[in-house]
Amino acid sequence: MDVLTVRNLNFRYNTAEILKNISFSVGAGDYVALVGPNGSGKTTLIKIILGLLAPYGGTVDIFGHGREYFPHWDKIGYLPQKVAHPNQLFPASVREVVAMGLISRKRFPRYLRRNDEEKIGAALGLLDITDLARIPFAELSLGQQQRVLVARAIVNKPDFLIMDEPTSALDPENRERFFALIQDLNRGGATIIIVTHDLGNIGRYSSKLLYIDKRLIFYGSFEEFCHSKDVTQLFGEYAQHIICHRHDAC
Ligand code: ADP
Repeated sequence: MDVLTVRNLNFRYNTAEILKNISFSVGAGDYVALVGPNGSGKTTLIKIILGLLAPYGGTVDIFGHGREYFPHWDKIGYLPQKVAHPNQLFPASVREVVAMGLISRKRFPRYLRRNDEEKIGAALGLLDITDLARIPFAELSLGQQQRVLVARAIVNKPDFLIMDEPTSALDPENRERFFALIQDLNRGGATIIIVTHDLGNIGRYSSKLLYIDKRLIFYGSFEEFCHSKDVTQLFGEYAQHIICHRHDAC
Protein backbone atom coordinates (compact mmCIF):
# COMPACT_ATOMS: atom_id res chain seq x y z
CA MET A 1 0.00 0.00 0.00
CA ASP A 2 1.22 3.51 -0.74
CA VAL A 3 1.95 5.71 2.23
CA LEU A 4 0.83 8.80 0.34
CA THR A 5 -1.25 9.28 -2.80
CA VAL A 6 -1.82 12.79 -4.12
CA ARG A 7 -4.24 13.15 -7.03
CA ASN A 8 -4.89 16.19 -9.19
CA LEU A 9 -4.14 18.62 -6.40
CA ASN A 10 -4.88 22.28 -6.99
CA PHE A 11 -4.40 25.14 -4.58
CA ARG A 12 -4.67 28.91 -4.66
CA TYR A 13 -4.20 31.72 -2.19
CA ASN A 14 -6.97 34.15 -3.11
CA THR A 15 -6.62 34.32 -6.88
CA ALA A 16 -2.97 33.28 -7.17
CA GLU A 17 -2.68 29.70 -8.37
CA ILE A 18 0.05 27.99 -6.35
CA LEU A 19 -0.29 24.28 -7.15
CA LYS A 20 -1.57 23.01 -10.48
CA ASN A 21 -2.79 19.48 -10.96
CA ILE A 22 -0.13 17.74 -8.86
CA SER A 23 -0.29 13.92 -8.74
CA PHE A 24 2.26 11.48 -7.29
CA SER A 25 2.47 8.63 -4.84
CA VAL A 26 5.02 7.67 -2.22
CA GLY A 27 5.57 4.00 -1.38
CA ALA A 28 6.46 2.53 2.01
CA GLY A 29 10.17 3.04 2.70
CA ASP A 30 10.66 5.71 0.02
CA TYR A 31 12.97 8.62 0.83
CA VAL A 32 11.76 11.52 -1.28
CA ALA A 33 13.57 14.83 -1.74
CA LEU A 34 11.05 17.60 -2.50
CA VAL A 35 12.83 20.38 -4.36
CA GLY A 36 12.00 23.43 -6.45
CA PRO A 37 12.76 27.16 -6.61
CA ASN A 38 11.71 29.59 -3.88
CA GLY A 39 7.96 30.14 -3.99
CA SER A 40 7.35 26.98 -6.04
CA GLY A 41 4.78 25.65 -3.54
CA LYS A 42 6.79 23.09 -1.54
CA THR A 43 5.69 24.26 1.91
CA THR A 44 2.12 24.69 0.67
CA LEU A 45 2.12 21.09 -0.61
CA ILE A 46 3.43 19.80 2.75
CA LYS A 47 0.79 21.77 4.65
CA ILE A 48 -1.97 20.33 2.46
CA ILE A 49 -0.69 16.78 3.02
CA LEU A 50 -0.72 17.39 6.78
CA GLY A 51 -4.24 18.85 6.75
CA LEU A 52 -3.10 22.35 7.71
CA LEU A 53 -4.46 23.82 4.45
CA ALA A 54 -7.45 22.66 2.41
CA PRO A 55 -6.87 22.08 -1.32
CA TYR A 56 -8.98 23.84 -3.95
CA GLY A 57 -9.31 20.56 -5.79
CA GLY A 58 -7.93 17.02 -5.73
CA THR A 59 -7.41 14.40 -3.03
CA VAL A 60 -4.75 13.26 -0.59
CA ASP A 61 -4.74 9.71 0.85
CA ILE A 62 -2.42 8.78 3.71
CA PHE A 63 -1.91 5.09 4.48
CA GLY A 64 -4.97 4.41 2.33
CA HIS A 65 -7.28 6.84 4.18
CA GLY A 66 -8.64 10.08 2.80
CA ARG A 67 -6.76 12.87 4.54
CA GLU A 68 -9.97 14.11 6.19
CA TYR A 69 -10.60 10.73 7.82
CA PHE A 70 -7.03 9.74 8.61
CA PRO A 71 -7.09 8.29 12.17
CA HIS A 72 -3.37 7.82 12.92
CA TRP A 73 -1.62 11.17 13.00
CA ASP A 74 0.55 9.63 15.73
CA LYS A 75 2.29 7.68 12.92
CA ILE A 76 3.47 10.93 11.36
CA GLY A 77 6.36 13.14 12.41
CA TYR A 78 6.54 16.71 11.14
CA LEU A 79 9.31 19.24 11.30
CA PRO A 80 8.03 22.67 10.20
CA GLN A 81 10.16 25.02 8.15
CA LYS A 82 10.47 27.89 10.56
CA VAL A 83 11.75 27.54 14.06
CA ALA A 84 8.77 28.78 16.07
CA HIS A 85 9.28 32.17 17.64
CA PRO A 86 10.94 31.38 20.97
CA ASN A 87 8.37 33.45 22.87
CA GLN A 88 5.68 31.02 21.79
CA LEU A 89 7.44 28.23 23.63
CA PHE A 90 8.91 30.23 26.44
CA PRO A 91 9.67 29.11 29.13
CA ALA A 92 9.62 25.47 27.98
CA SER A 93 12.85 23.56 28.45
CA VAL A 94 14.44 21.49 25.68
CA ARG A 95 13.11 18.31 27.32
CA GLU A 96 9.59 19.74 27.45
CA VAL A 97 9.69 20.75 23.78
CA VAL A 98 10.75 17.21 22.81
CA ALA A 99 8.02 15.80 25.11
CA MET A 100 5.44 17.78 23.10
CA GLY A 101 6.06 15.27 20.29
CA LEU A 102 4.47 12.66 22.57
CA ILE A 103 1.98 14.69 24.60
CA SER A 104 0.26 16.24 21.59
CA ARG A 105 -0.57 12.73 20.39
CA LYS A 106 -2.11 11.51 23.64
CA ARG A 107 -5.71 11.64 24.64
CA PHE A 108 -6.65 13.48 27.81
CA PRO A 109 -5.28 13.11 30.51
CA ARG A 110 -1.87 13.51 28.92
CA TYR A 111 0.48 12.02 31.48
CA LEU A 112 3.94 10.90 30.46
CA ARG A 113 4.78 7.33 31.44
CA ARG A 114 8.11 5.73 32.17
CA ASN A 115 8.58 4.50 28.61
CA ASP A 116 7.81 8.04 27.38
CA GLU A 117 10.71 9.29 29.50
CA GLU A 118 12.89 6.64 27.87
CA LYS A 119 11.79 7.74 24.39
CA ILE A 120 12.59 11.37 25.22
CA GLY A 121 16.00 10.38 26.60
CA ALA A 122 16.73 8.36 23.45
CA ALA A 123 15.73 11.23 21.11
CA LEU A 124 17.86 13.71 23.08
CA GLY A 125 20.79 11.28 22.84
CA LEU A 126 20.37 10.76 19.09
CA LEU A 127 20.54 14.49 18.46
CA ASP A 128 23.40 14.92 20.96
CA ILE A 129 21.43 17.42 23.05
CA THR A 130 21.20 15.50 26.34
CA ASP A 131 23.30 18.20 28.03
CA LEU A 132 20.78 20.85 26.96
CA ALA A 133 17.73 19.04 28.40
CA ARG A 134 16.98 21.53 31.19
CA ILE A 135 17.90 24.71 29.31
CA PRO A 136 15.06 26.95 28.09
CA PHE A 137 14.49 26.40 24.37
CA ALA A 138 14.43 30.17 23.77
CA GLU A 139 18.04 30.52 24.97
CA LEU A 140 19.49 28.18 22.34
CA SER A 141 21.15 29.05 19.05
CA LEU A 142 19.10 28.49 15.89
CA GLY A 143 21.12 25.35 15.07
CA GLN A 144 20.49 23.92 18.55
CA GLN A 145 16.79 24.77 18.28
CA GLN A 146 16.62 22.95 14.97
CA ARG A 147 18.14 19.83 16.55
CA VAL A 148 15.55 20.02 19.35
CA LEU A 149 12.76 20.20 16.79
CA VAL A 150 14.20 17.23 14.91
CA ALA A 151 14.17 15.33 18.23
CA ARG A 152 10.52 16.35 18.73
CA ALA A 153 9.65 15.10 15.21
CA ILE A 154 11.25 11.68 15.72
CA VAL A 155 10.54 11.04 19.42
CA ASN A 156 7.46 8.96 18.62
CA LYS A 157 9.33 6.84 16.04
CA PRO A 158 7.08 7.94 13.18
CA ASP A 159 6.35 5.63 10.24
CA PHE A 160 6.16 8.67 7.98
CA LEU A 161 8.42 11.66 8.60
CA ILE A 162 7.89 14.95 6.79
CA MET A 163 10.53 17.66 7.17
CA ASP A 164 10.60 21.14 5.70
CA GLU A 165 14.20 22.33 5.28
CA PRO A 166 15.45 20.64 8.44
CA THR A 167 19.14 21.39 7.94
CA SER A 168 19.07 25.12 7.11
CA ALA A 169 20.53 26.15 10.51
CA LEU A 170 22.85 23.18 11.04
CA ASP A 171 26.62 23.35 10.76
CA PRO A 172 28.29 20.78 8.44
CA GLU A 173 29.05 18.32 11.25
CA ASN A 174 25.50 18.33 12.58
CA ARG A 175 24.14 18.16 9.04
CA GLU A 176 26.09 14.93 8.45
CA ARG A 177 24.83 13.55 11.78
CA PHE A 178 21.29 14.53 10.86
CA PHE A 179 21.45 12.76 7.48
CA ALA A 180 22.97 9.65 9.09
CA LEU A 181 20.13 9.61 11.62
CA ILE A 182 17.45 9.97 8.95
CA GLN A 183 19.13 7.25 6.89
CA ASP A 184 18.94 4.93 9.92
CA LEU A 185 15.24 5.70 10.39
CA ASN A 186 14.66 5.08 6.69
CA ARG A 187 16.55 1.76 6.80
CA GLY A 188 14.38 0.86 9.79
CA GLY A 189 11.33 1.23 7.53
CA ALA A 190 10.30 4.89 7.95
CA THR A 191 9.07 6.72 4.85
CA ILE A 192 10.65 10.15 4.46
CA ILE A 193 9.81 13.36 2.62
CA ILE A 194 12.38 16.10 3.00
CA VAL A 195 12.10 19.59 1.52
CA THR A 196 15.58 20.82 0.72
CA HIS A 197 17.51 23.42 -1.22
CA ASP A 198 20.61 21.29 -1.10
CA LEU A 199 20.22 19.92 -4.61
CA GLY A 200 23.92 19.29 -4.94
CA ASN A 201 23.97 16.80 -2.05
CA ILE A 202 20.55 15.32 -1.47
CA GLY A 203 21.15 12.63 -4.12
CA ARG A 204 23.67 11.06 -1.72
CA TYR A 205 20.85 10.27 0.70
CA SER A 206 17.39 10.16 -0.83
CA SER A 207 16.00 7.57 -3.26
CA LYS A 208 13.56 9.74 -5.21
CA LEU A 209 13.35 13.29 -6.42
CA LEU A 210 10.12 15.27 -6.60
CA TYR A 211 10.74 18.54 -8.42
CA ILE A 212 7.87 21.01 -8.47
CA ASP A 213 7.48 24.52 -9.75
CA LYS A 214 3.78 25.04 -9.04
CA ARG A 215 3.25 22.04 -11.31
CA LEU A 216 5.05 18.73 -11.15
CA ILE A 217 8.22 18.96 -13.22
CA PHE A 218 9.79 15.59 -12.41
CA TYR A 219 9.14 12.65 -10.10
CA GLY A 220 11.21 9.50 -10.06
CA SER A 221 14.48 7.92 -9.00
CA PHE A 222 17.79 9.72 -9.44
CA GLU A 223 18.70 7.20 -12.15
CA GLU A 224 15.54 8.16 -14.05
CA PHE A 225 16.37 11.82 -13.50
CA CYS A 226 19.85 11.22 -14.87
CA HIS A 227 18.51 9.62 -18.07
CA SER A 228 15.47 11.82 -18.65
CA LYS A 229 15.60 13.79 -21.91
CA ASP A 230 12.89 16.12 -20.55
CA VAL A 231 15.16 16.95 -17.64
CA THR A 232 18.09 17.63 -19.99
CA GLN A 233 15.89 20.09 -21.87
CA LEU A 234 14.82 21.83 -18.68
CA PHE A 235 18.06 21.92 -16.72
CA GLY A 236 20.82 21.29 -19.27
CA GLU A 237 23.12 18.28 -19.04
CA TYR A 238 25.57 19.83 -16.60
CA ALA A 239 23.02 20.66 -13.89
CA GLN A 240 21.24 17.36 -14.51
CA HIS A 241 24.32 15.36 -13.60
CA ILE A 242 25.33 17.56 -10.69
CA ILE A 243 21.86 16.91 -9.25
CA CYS A 244 21.67 13.20 -10.03
CA HIS A 245 24.88 12.73 -8.07
CA ARG A 246 25.25 9.22 -9.46
CA HIS A 247 26.59 10.11 -12.82
CA ASP A 248 29.41 7.59 -12.62
CA ALA A 249 26.86 4.88 -11.89
CA CYS A 250 24.33 6.03 -14.50
P1 ADP B 1 8.20 27.28 -1.25
O1 ADP B 1 8.04 26.46 0.00
O2 ADP B 1 8.44 26.44 -2.48
O3 ADP B 1 9.21 28.37 -1.13
P2 ADP B 1 5.54 28.26 -0.58
O4 ADP B 1 4.64 27.08 -0.62
O5 ADP B 1 5.98 28.75 0.76
O6 ADP B 1 6.79 28.00 -1.54
O7 ADP B 1 4.82 29.47 -1.30
C1 ADP B 1 4.29 29.37 -2.61
C2 ADP B 1 3.72 30.71 -3.01
O8 ADP B 1 2.60 31.01 -2.19
C3 ADP B 1 4.70 31.87 -2.86
O9 ADP B 1 4.53 32.73 -3.96
C4 ADP B 1 4.25 32.53 -1.58
O10 ADP B 1 4.54 33.91 -1.61
C5 ADP B 1 2.76 32.29 -1.60
N1 ADP B 1 2.20 32.21 -0.23
C6 ADP B 1 2.65 31.43 0.78
N2 ADP B 1 1.88 31.58 1.89
C7 ADP B 1 0.93 32.48 1.56
C8 ADP B 1 -0.18 33.07 2.28
N3 ADP B 1 -0.45 32.73 3.55
N4 ADP B 1 -0.95 33.97 1.62
C9 ADP B 1 -0.71 34.30 0.34
N5 ADP B 1 0.31 33.78 -0.40
C10 ADP B 1 1.12 32.90 0.19
